[in-house]
Amino acid sequence: MIYFDNNATTQIAPEVLDAMVPFLGAQYGNPSSAHALGKDVKHAIESAHENVAELLGASSADEIVFTSCGTESDNWAILGALRTVPEKKQIVTTRVEHEAVRKLCENLERESYNVTWLDVDEEGLLDLDALKNSLTEQTAVVSVMLANNETGVLFPVEEIAEIVKERSDALFHVDGVNAAGKVPIDLKNTAIDLFSISAHKFHGPKGIGALYIHDGVNLPSFLIGGGQERGRRAGTEAVHQIAGIGAAAKLANDMSKMERVRELRDRLENEILNETPNSRLNGTRDAHMRLPNTSNISFENTNGEAILARLNDIGVCVSTGSACNSESHTASPVLQAMNIPYLAAMGSIRFSLGRYNTEEEVDFVLKELPSVVADLRKLVAIQ
Ligand code: PLP
Repeated sequence: MIYFDNNATTQIAPEVLDAMVPFLGAQYGNPSSAHALGKDVKHAIESAHENVAELLGASSADEIVFTSCGTESDNWAILGALRTVPEKKQIVTTRVEHEAVRKLCENLERESYNVTWLDVDEEGLLDLDALKNSLTEQTAVVSVMLANNETGVLFPVEEIAEIVKERSDALFHVDGVNAAGKVPIDLKNTAIDLFSISAHKFHGPKGIGALYIHDGVNLPSFLIGGGQERGRRAGTEAVHQIAGIGAAAKLANDMSKMERVRELRDRLENEILNETPNSRLNGTRDAHMRLPNTSNISFENTNGEAILARLNDIGVCVSTGSACNSESHTASPVLQAMNIPYLAAMGSIRFSLGRYNTEEEVDFVLKELPSVVADLRKLVAIQ
């Protein structure tokens, strides 16, 4: 099997699994216990905080709070920020956020919040003037992703943080879930208040994420009050998961691996675009403004779901930017926001590579893909 769907999730690294297993066996102590069994486990939790702090370039391990997933981190950041200033009713976000932010903001809009949805251009880039103009005294929170999960387009979140702080008192949250482990992050020298991550996107386990809360930001705990994580996110710690995110953060910190991923991705992308007629890249071509592992490519006059199914038959895993069911055929909101023509958006495929992919896998996909696309186009032509 060839796995080119690393923005959906990643395989657990063997080193991560090794770090988790003891806490499902002999090391079963409760980290709050004062005896030796508890203390060892507590130590593992502390070192996981340190590893994640290092991955994010946080000033201190105390700025990291573990959660159950990226979605929880995103929801906590936004709802917590709103709770700090109940009199303010404006949220600023973008039209291309992941559902974890988009659906929450849509719900809040129905509940009397005023949401400003920032547009992107055809390359998926944000208009920073529109951001500047959107900020008011009423803005409670601004939430912008670092890396788009569908196109890999990167937003200049450090610059956005400066703009937000110059023009408002709002808290600034970044959804970094699809960026962590793929691009370097150094939060300590930024004005970013809150930053979400999720371990399963960087070779850690599912069901564990973290929220970075900048020192001095007093984010009310959300839903789960109690004692653990210094009262910010309670419940007896899921120690094996925490050991997993800690080990994954340590591995992800070695960014040198991403250079090889970038080379593989560039070769895959360039050759597909050169060899397959009527194919186009969705997202900016500026290498500094896009994740090193992602290519979102539209194959016009065919259907992304059909390509996915054919690739699946020959053992290749990718994903689409469209959804088809018996009632509707809809392009992804991200591609719609970029004004990608409907037929191109319906024929889009996301290739997202990872650290375990090889040259041979890229060769195989490059060999098979043109005929898959050509066969499907013939079928469309016959119909
Ligand atoms: N934000 C982004 C950008 C994502 O890509 C994802 C997952 O696909 C999430 C949030 C949600 O993370 P989780 O699956 O850990 O809830």
